Amino acid sequence: MSVLEIRDVTKAFGATKAVDSFNLTVGDGELVCLLGPSGSGKSTLLRMIGGFETPTSGHVAIDGEDVTRVPPEKRPTGMVFQSHALWTHMNVFKNLAFGLKLRRLPEAEIKRRVEAVLELVGLAGYGHRATNQLSGGQQQRVALARSLVLEPKILLLDEPFASLDQHLRERLREEVRDIQQRLKITTLFVTHGQDEALALADRIVVMRDGRTEQAAAPDVVYREP
Ligand code: ADP
Ligand code: ADP
Repeated sequence: MSVLEIRDVTKAFGATKAVDSFNLTVGDGELVCLLGPSGSGKSTLLRMIGGFETPTSGHVAIDGEDVTRVPPEKRPTGMVFQSHALWTHMNVFKNLAFGLKLRRLPEAEIKRRVEAVLELVGLAGYGHRATNQLSGGQQQRVALARSLVLEPKILLLDEPFASLDQHLRERLREEVRDIQQRLKITTLFVTHGQDEALALADRIVVMRDGRTEQAAAPDVVYREP
């Protein structure tokens, strides 16, 4: 069953078409990597799925509902960026609890969900830590947890590990794959790294100039000359 439908979406900034007549359907629980060089429209596409940008034309629908019609607090997506933007004046627990408090969940439920998600990202017991005392990798795990704790329908990751060193990037990539499979959460992962897409994706969508150059399973994409 498809969860996400992108139909003939174009996003223009002046004369530039960042995304150009783009089509994509993503199935429930699928992990799709959007791969392409800088400027190929990956981020713009992801931001439209997340509801942060409105398409110039075309439609993005999640579970059949047009994303532009969903108010921000009800968006069924969780987004993680390259720069994590954690709230440095709050400890880890409060960073994760914040969105749940806005939704007026009971304290006990908030505590249960925050602790479960910290466990999931390998940071059990880190609730009281100040975010600025964490390593880069730990901060990105908190950013991921902050998205997951809201139980989004679709997880959107925009080069989430690009600022980390190679070794850590490979480790976190494996962790994301593991978490994604455990939760069976539909995921779109933006990257310009072929190795990253190859390691992660059920399907790779290669983008160029706002369009799909190729879309196929990793082994198919890399069989081509
Ligand atoms: P990628 O994520 O693949 O690097 P982007 O989606 O960031 O690509 O950018 C695609 C194109 O759209 C680029 O030419 C970029 O300069 C342009 N673009 C993206 N966002 C804006 C914006 N807010 N205003 C003007 N141009 C933009
Ligand atoms: P402000 O204090 O400017 O009103 P917010 O309190 O909404 O901003 O957010 C604080 C910081 O967290 C900002 O840098 C923002 O970009 C970032 N942020 C907000 N929501 C998210 C999110 N869902 N995922 C990642 N970062 C976010």
